[in-house]
Amino acid sequence: MRVAVIGAGLGGLLTASLLSESGYTVDVYEKLNFYGGRFTSFEYRGFQISTGALHMIPHGKRGPLGKLLKSVGSDVEIIDSKPEGEILLNDRIEVRSSAFPLKSKFKFFKWLLKYRVLRIDPYMDAYEKELDDVSAGFLRSFLGWSLSISPSQIKFSKLLAIYNRVVECGGPGIPVGGCKAVVDDLVEIIKSNGGSIRLRNPVIRLITNGNTIKKLESQKDVAEYDLFISNLGHKLTGRLAGREYFEHNGCESKGVKYSISISKPFIGNTGVLFPLNCSRISGMNEVTNADPSLAPKGKHLLMAHQPLFTDNIRKEIEEGLKELRTLLRGFDYEIIAVQSFHDDWPVNRIMSGLDRGYKTPFKNLFVVGDGAKGDDIEVDGIALGVAKLLKEKFSEKVPVRVP
Ligand SMILES: Cc1cc2nc3c(=O)[nH]c(=O)nc-3n(C[C@H](O)[C@H](O)[C@H](O)COP(=O)(O)OP(=O)(O)OC[C@H]3O[C@@H](n4cnc5c(N)ncnc54)[C@H](O)[C@@H]3O)c2cc1C
Repeated sequence: MRVAVIGAGLGGLLTASLLSESGYTVDVYEKLNFYGGRFTSFEYRGFQISTGALHMIPHGKRGPLGKLLKSVGSDVEIIDSKPEGEILLNDRIEVRSSAFPLKSKFKFFKWLLKYRVLRIDPYMDAYEKELDDVSAGFLRSFLGWSLSISPSQIKFSKLLAIYNRVVECGGPGIPVGGCKAVVDDLVEIIKSNGGSIRLRNPVIRLITNGNTIKKLESQKDVAEYDLFISNLGHKLTGRLAGREYFEHNGCESKGVKYSISISKPFIGNTGVLFPLNCSRISGMNEVTNADPSLAPKGKHLLMAHQPLFTDNIRKEIEEGLKELRTLLRGFDYEIIAVQSFHDDWPVNRIMSGLDRGYKTPFKNLFVVGDGAKGDDIEVDGIALGVAKLLKEKFSEKVPVRVP
């Protein structure tokens, strides 16, 4: 059976590798001259500057992506973060749980009870007001860092699902070699199974007959396939097929990422630092504490993330830079890249909680990637979306143990 995968992002490559391992003939079409989409990196002055992700996997090696990578034969090493996270409050670093008053912890159990018994499920801004300042600040920072959203954009039930997944699988991890090591491994697996990666060859059109996709027209050729997997999200996929079945204007989450060269460690561990006194910068990580090769000798790669809630990107960056200057006072550092993410290169194609699954109106066309996540966040959500597709549509032929 011949499968065309449109887009060589993480979702496309993960699906292609799993299908190719199970005997499918897979061709991956990619518009750009590199694969990996928002989950790879380029070397700049010896630093691995990522195209998107902060070189982190939300649940490390025990999460859905870690498990799928193992099942497909990838041996990329993922170093689990220790501690998972800390908060920075008035220039003092505190370990997460000890900083929260018991009163706020009890509040969480009260909301849990209300949800379980009465099905009361408000957006989190309603609950944020009931919290002490530290707990409310952590809620905002955590959501800004992990999802680029604010408490008014997520319901209690969704946050609970994330919390449960953290309890089940643990916190984040950093792949040795960064995001690029993950996608390099997947491409190697696809190629070793006879699949192809066609760079600089965008798909222009999907040729349909009723509710079936018959052919794919790319910039270089027209080809017939049995199955089509799109890594572009539902909106762009619908456009390629000439049927705009899904509009999600304004549903993507947006952000800015700062890559910083620093001589001495600022965080000094492999976890996430949440600076609660900031209104723009939601979190920072220092991946070189897990893998020194992500920066040149004698330097660390510190990254900071800022969710975007307005369209005035220039002004937002000015404010973000101001906060970084305050945070990094006294350190020898240089900001080497500032990248903004929105429109068709966002932080998340569809905000967490609004995903619509892999199905399209076409019986042989499916969507993977962060426009079709499963019930988890970021690349672990992508892995769950891929796993669900394989389980429901390919389970006879793809004997992977899906998480
Ligand atoms: C600043 C930032 C920080 C992040 N941090 C993290 C993190 O630390 N951990 C984490 O888990 N996630 C993180 N994410 C999210 C994560 O990077 C993305 O969710 C993930 O990389 C998206 O993968 P995808 O499979 O949806 O594919 P994408 O990366 O969207 O790839 C789609 C591919 O399709 C190609 N394409 C588009 N149109 C066509 C066409 N017509 N024909 C052929 N190809 C086409 C594109 O060029 C692209 O390569 C972050 C994102 C950003 C922006």
